[in-house]
Amino acid sequence: MTIDERLAFFEKNFDLIAVGTHSRGDKHFISDGKSRLCRFCQKDENETTFRNESHAIPECLGNHQLILLDECDECNTFFSNKLEDHLDKFTKPYRIAGQIAGKKGIPKYRTDNKKNRIEFNELPTVKSQTGEEFFLIDDKKKEITIKLHQEPHIPIAVYKALLKIAISVIKEKNELGAFRHTIGWLLNQDLTISVIKPTLLMQAFVPGPRPTNGVFVSLFRRKAAVSNVPYAIFVIAFGNVIFQLIVPSHIDDGVSMSVQLPFLPSPFEIIDWPYGDLKFGSHDLSGTEKVGRELSIVYSFEQMIEVDPKIIE
Ligand SMILES: [Zn+2]
Repeated sequence: MTIDERLAFFEKNFDLIAVGTHSRGDKHFISDGKSRLCRFCQKDENETTFRNESHAIPECLGNHQLILLDECDECNTFFSNKLEDHLDKFTKPYRIAGQIAGKKGIPKYRTDNKKNRIEFNELPTVKSQTGEEFFLIDDKKKEITIKLHQEPHIPIAVYKALLKIAISVIKEKNELGAFRHTIGWLLNQDLTISVIKPTLLMQAFVPGPRPTNGVFVSLFRRKAAVSNVPYAIFVIAFGNVIFQLIVPSHIDDGVSMSVQLPFLPSPFEIIDWPYGDLKFGSHDLSGTEKVGRELSIVYSFEQMIEVDPKIIE
């Protein structure tokens, strides 16, 4: 499909029901907070508490602004411990590559044997002991490749954490009904129960220095007259990655989820992006057991200078 065909696919079939870019600055709230009702467990102030500040998008992805008032403390704790922890581990190499600051700054990285590390102080610093093959330098291409391991995480929990974000950024409460069953599934602790197959996370990798500043989200809901495409599609971008996934709904009954969906065209394909072409791929997040992959990050450089290690300290 051409970029125009992909754009036309979204325009013909979907309405945008949530969109925004969030980073630092003034806080924005979803819901007015007058009468608190949790959009997940449906409990109100008489049945549960609303003391925590619930981020609609986890802080680790770079959102320090968008707050969801319709999330109770119980659900907030459940989501952060049972789902977002896995998303944190899955996305960490991407956040290191994109230098995304969470609550505690940009995540540091250390290999299990502690002989290699990446730190972000004034300058990003990669330290590696002699004899380790932590990074490879290609002098001709002027590239450094660093191999990062993802910490063990459960893929289906990563998918669920992303769906939780999709549902959190909806402002229009009448849009939530279509996701009632999906919310029930998100709250189910049993990670072996799946409601979507294949559980595919589509990815576009955008080369260059932090193409997306902050975290961008957009949620597309099928137009009323359309029936042969999934009910909702969520796109989230931060640093160098753009992820796209289907948000399941009981309204989808009978729609094949295996349809080859086009990727939402991004500005980096439309404008003259100087750092090269996007790389498209996908992750199967159906797994219910812990996994950890190796991801390579490639940096290009202009020149290499030998310095005394003491001056880095
Ligand atoms: Zn709740």
